[in-house]
Order: sequence, then structure tokens, then C-alpha cells
Amino acid sequence: MQLYKKQHIKIYNSLSGKKERLKPINEGHIGMYVCGPTVYSNVHLGNCRTFMSFDMIFRYFKHLGYKVRYVRNITDAGHLVDDADDGEDKIAKKARLEQLEPMEVVQRYTIDFHNILQKFNFLPPSIEPTATGHIIEQIEIIKDILKKGFGYETNGSIYFDVAKFNETNEYGKLSGRKLEDMIANTRELAAQNEKKNPQDFALWKRAEPEHIMRWPSPWGDGFPGWHLECTAMSTKYLGETFDIHGGGMDLKFPHHECEIAQAEASNGHSPVNYWLHANMLTMNGKKMAKSTGNNILPGEIFTGDNEILSKAFSPSVVRFFMMQAHYTSILDLSNDALLASEKGYYRLMEALKTLKKIEPNETSNFDVSVWRQECYDAMNDDFNTPILIAKMFDAVKRINLLKENIETITSADKETLLSTLKGFIFDVLGLEEKIENVSNSDKLSGVVELLIQLRKDARDNRDFDTSDKIRDQLSAMGIQLKDGKEGTTFSIS
Ligand SMILES: [Zn+2]
Repeated sequence: MQLYKKQHIKIYNSLSGKKERLKPINEGHIGMYVCGPTVYSNVHLGNCRTFMSFDMIFRYFKHLGYKVRYVRNITDAGHLVDDADDGEDKIAKKARLEQLEPMEVVQRYTIDFHNILQKFNFLPPSIEPTATGHIIEQIEIIKDILKKGFGYETNGSIYFDVAKFNETNEYGKLSGRKLEDMIANTRELAAQNEKKNPQDFALWKRAEPEHIMRWPSPWGDGFPGWHLECTAMSTKYLGETFDIHGGGMDLKFPHHECEIAQAEASNGHSPVNYWLHANMLTMNGKKMAKSTGNNILPGEIFTGDNEILSKAFSPSVVRFFMMQAHYTSILDLSNDALLASEKGYYRLMEALKTLKKIEPNETSNFDVSVWRQECYDAMNDDFNTPILIAKMFDAVKRINLLKENIETITSADKETLLSTLKGFIFDVLGLEEKIENVSNSDKLSGVVELLIQLRKDARDNRDFDTSDKIRDQLSAMGIQLKDGKEGTTFSIS
């Protein structure tokens, strides 16, 4: 039996503001769309956190046996500098500044994005469509919206008529805004006089003669509005209504609100059953921003090449750090927080190694099946990774008691404990065993074992000066030897 039949997930739906039981449209299948990056600069760590949250969610669905179609797009056109309808296209601007073809910019930063995600051990999405690859679909949606009376043309640009839409639908329901309040709080700007109302947003923009990224349309040469690509790509691959749409909290308004409006205007029904929003990453208590310098690139963490860091951290340690906060909470990055995560991560890896070596017994003191269900309960409760990790450390404590022979475990329980730990640590949280460190600790173990052997030889030869010297000097380094019936063991404090 598939695990999802027994494990019932509740997810916090931003649309209802409540935790709801997840009921996929087709049993055993999940369709999930996540807004991908605009590829005009190196991916920053805050974005990595958002994508990592959805990678974890994708991994958990797969772990439960769901067939998941996970679509995460690449925005390679149409995203304007001010995130609304003014200013230059972000990619075109970068291309102008660096004297590149826009598609060279796209290529460069798409590669960077994939490289960084691979280092963090992301699973690739099922489909990774691009905005420029779906111009025809976007034009079709615009035609549909125009036909239904929710859009209008001004000078070769098409705008969505928010006021008209709001007569029959509810604009602002995702972000909890009311159109009347929005109108009261905005002043008409001269530059926006192509629009009937400042709340209206572009579906299609007329391309000025110097604009390189342009496509022919029934309204002349132009390019699609940013919000439209996600409506086109999500509904094309997942259907007119699909299960889950995710993205960063900052996309809730206007981007996702506009997606809902476009889909409802063209299809007549709501596009998404569950909206999920991941929270942001701050650094040393402050918002991360390139302009203030309070910013770090993922690559700088891997090399330690940033003044806030005392050393380099592996991608798995950073991933473990990110997973220690719930995806809807703000997470603060600092050198101390990374150091603490590194310690915790190695404790977890050591415990796994220790468990493999534990000799099973006739009886168990540890109720593994209760603990295992508690791990699932944590994940079923809106993907609560911090609680899951606390459960992992409960198991670490028990493993250390087994190692000290204070508690015992049966062979079957040992197997369940090991497979559950591995399933959550590697498959769901997406951590990797850090090979070089594991092999370093293997080397250390080898050296200590050698010294234990030399000490035994010395004792056999009644050379107690040498044997005491080995024990005392190891102890001074924090390595304690313990003599027992089965020989000498050691622990590192
Ligand atoms: Zn989007």
C-alpha cells in the first residue's frame, strides 16, 4: 500500500488562511506549479531557500508514493524592472548593460541557477518551461480574455480590466486586499494613462523600436506581461484547475493575484486549490539586499569567501540549516547559526554510522513505531521540518544509549529505525553524507584504533608508562578510552 493512503497531509492554504486537509484532484497524483527565477543575475540565497522549501515538499510527496508533476518555470522575458508595468525588461536591461544578446544573459544565469541547485542536491522538476517558449499560448489567453470583456487595447498594449473583473469576481482575495482600498490608496500617475485604472495590469506590451525581445501578435509587435506566463504554463501542463501553486511570499501580490484573475477571466473558474507561500531569508537580522551589501551568494558560503563567515560550509550544512525552520517562518542566516547547524548535521551523520554497528538484542526499550509515526505526523502537519528534525535528534539520543549498552533494540526495530532515519534525512530533507568529512572521521577512528592496539601491546609487555601515556594524552585531546569486557572503546567529546 502506498504511504499516502495512511499519511494525511494538512497544508496551510494562503487563499483560505487555514490549514486544510490535502485532497488531490486525482487520487495518488499531485500537480504543483512553482514560480521560478527571472534569469538576469546570479541566484541569491533567499531564492534558493524558497525553491528548497518546494523541493522538500516535492520530495515528501514522492516519498509518500504520489505521482507528482512538478512544474517550475524559467522567466526569460516580460519581467519588468519595477515588477509592474513600467521600466525596462530585467533581462533586456542586463543585456544592454553588458552588451550581450538577451538570450546570452538568459543562458548564463540559467546555467548558474542549475549549478547552484545541483550543489544543494535539488531534484529536477518534471517540467521546466520558459516564458519565451510559450508566447503562442499567452497570446491565446489574451484573445480569450478580450473576447470575454475583461481586457482592452491601448496603443498596441493590452491591459486587464481589474474593475470590470471585480464586478463579477473578487480581485484581492489571495492577498486579503479590497479593490476599493487599493483605489483609495493610489494616485493616478501620468505615465500610466494608457490604463483605465492604476490597478489594471499589462497582458501584452507594445515593443518600442529599440526593444529586442519582441514577438508578432494580432496587436502588433510586443512581449507578454510577466503575470501571464505563469497562467499559460501552469494551466497548459497541469490543467485549468490544479492542486498546488507555490512561490515566495513576495509574489502573493500582485503576481499571484493577477494569475488568479487571468485564469478566472479566461476559464471561468479558480486555477488553484492550494496556494503555498514560502517565507524569506534574512541575514544577521536584516533583510538581504544587494543595495545595502547585506547579501551573500550561495557560492560564497561554499568557499567561505565572505566577511560574515569564519569558514566555508558545505551545501548539505546550509540545506540542514534551512530545513531547521518552518517554510512559512522567516529564517535568519548568521555565521553562528551555520556553525550550530554544522555541529548538528555531523551528530546526525555520526549517529547513523553508530546505529549500523549496534548489535541487536532480544528486546527493545525504544518504541520505534510510535516514534516513526511522530516523524510522519510532523511532516503531515504542513511539512513541519523543525519538528521532524527534533524527532531525528530524539533518535540520536536513543542511539547513543544503545551504544553505551544502557538500552537495547531488536533486529527488526533497528532496521525500521535505520530505514526511517535514512528516508527522512536523505530522501525527504535532501541531505547528503558529506564524503570528505566522513572519510576524515574514518581516518581519525583508524588512528585511535591503532593507538588502542599499541597501548594493549604495551600493557601486555607490562610497559605501563607507555600505556598510561597513550591514555592520558588522548584524554587531554578529548578522546576518552573505556576498557570493557569486549576490549577498549573510545569516545570523542
Ligand atoms: Zn509566476
